[in-house]
This record gives sequence, structure tokens and C-alpha cells, in this order.
Amino acid sequence: MKPILAKFLTSAASPDAFPAEGPPEFAFLGRSNVGKSSLINSLLGQKLAHVSSTPGRTRTINFIGIYAKASQLHSTQPRAVAAVPHAQPELMLVDLPGYGSISRSITAEWPKFIEPYLKERTTLQLAIVLIDANVPPQAPDRQLIEFLRSAGRDFLVVATKSDKLSSNKLRAALATLAREHGVEEILAYSARTGAGKNELWREIRQRMGN
Ligand code: GDP
Repeated sequence: MKPILAKFLTSAASPDAFPAEGPPEFAFLGRSNVGKSSLINSLLGQKLAHVSSTPGRTRTINFIGIYAKASQLHSTQPRAVAAVPHAQPELMLVDLPGYGSISRSITAEWPKFIEPYLKERTTLQLAIVLIDANVPPQAPDRQLIEFLRSAGRDFLVVATKSDKLSSNKLRAALATLAREHGVEEILAYSARTGAGKNELWREIRQRMGN
């Protein structure tokens, strides 16, 4: 099985810096410290430069190109490449700034480029909303989910750090989060153990249109 090739493409702090629309995009959103960088790195099986929660890095939208056919996307160990042939990526993972509270984001970056991205990007296939499995339901997450719903965006809620809970506690936590956020299903993920990785790749593959 060929490894997945992934490469950081660009960072954007305004819509005019977004790359041209092309391959299907999968966006990752969540409160700061939810484990977004760890999840993206775990999905890719590598620590990609520019995927980090370092302040300064988090205030841009980071576009990561994935150069693998849908059939090759699963949890085998991918590798980073320094130079990718000039080919168009098959898909893009899009790392959005972590938020503390949506209300703060609303006054700052939100209307400038996050909202335009989520509302207008025609190649955005799925917004992946990360919530911490160990934390009770949070208002900003609920606001984000409501925003995505009203924008008519397909979204998937993923509960991070699932390894920190016993299976009984995890089941109960997921049920509470699903109920409070009004969603039918939440996918549990652990960047530490790799739990949920196959399932998340499957959700992505299913929306790639091939
Ligand atoms: P970000 O701010 O959302 O990018 O979050 P990070 O990926 O930097 O993770 C925040 C903290 O949570 C770090 O201390 C990570 O080690 C920890 N963390 C992230 N993912 C997991 C996980 O799956 N399991 C556990 N136990 N800790 C995690």
C-alpha cells in the first residue's frame, strides 16, 4: 500500500489569500487545546510543519494538500514529502484557527475570513467539529454547530482525547454531548491510540465523490 503524501500548501488570513478552489476540502474546527493539531498530525501519521497550536500559527487558515487517491486513504503510516510533483492534490485538509469563544472570534477574525470560508467556499465538503470528550458541552461549540446548520454545511462532530475515559464513561459522555448539541452521532477519536482514525478517513473518503 502506498503511503499518503501530504504537504502544507499555504496559510491565509484573508479570503484573497485562499488558494484557488480545486479539490474537495475538509475543514477542522474546534476550541483551542481541543487536540486539533494532534488529530491532524495523527490522521496524517506525521508531524506536518504549520500544523501546530503555537500562537501566531493559529490565527490563519492552513491548507494541507493530500496527494493520494481516496482508496489509499486509511490509517497506514503516511509520510511527508518535501516536494510534491506539480500535480493537483486529491483533497485538502483545512486547519481553521482554534477559538476560545465564538463571540470573541466574531469581533476579530470570524467575519474577516473564517465566516467567508465556511459560508462561501464551494469546494468545502465537510466541516469537522472537534469537541473534547472529557469536557461538558460548551456554548461556543454549540454556536458553531448552529452556524454550520444555518449555513447548510455538512458537518461531523468528533470527540477528541477519547483515550482518557473508560469505555462506559466515554459512551455516557458521547450521549450527553450528542444530546446537548442536537446531533445524532459523534465519532470518538484518540490521537494517542489512533482510535477513530479509520472511521474518520472513511467519512472523508465517502465525501470525496469518487
Ligand atoms: P490544539 O490547540 O487544538 O491544536 O490542541 P493540541 O493538539 O495542541 O493538544 C492540546 C493538548 O491535548 C496537548 O497537551 C496534547 O498532548 C493533548 N492531546 C491531544 N490529543 C490527545 C489525545 O488524543 N489524547 C490525550 N490523552 N491527549 C491529547
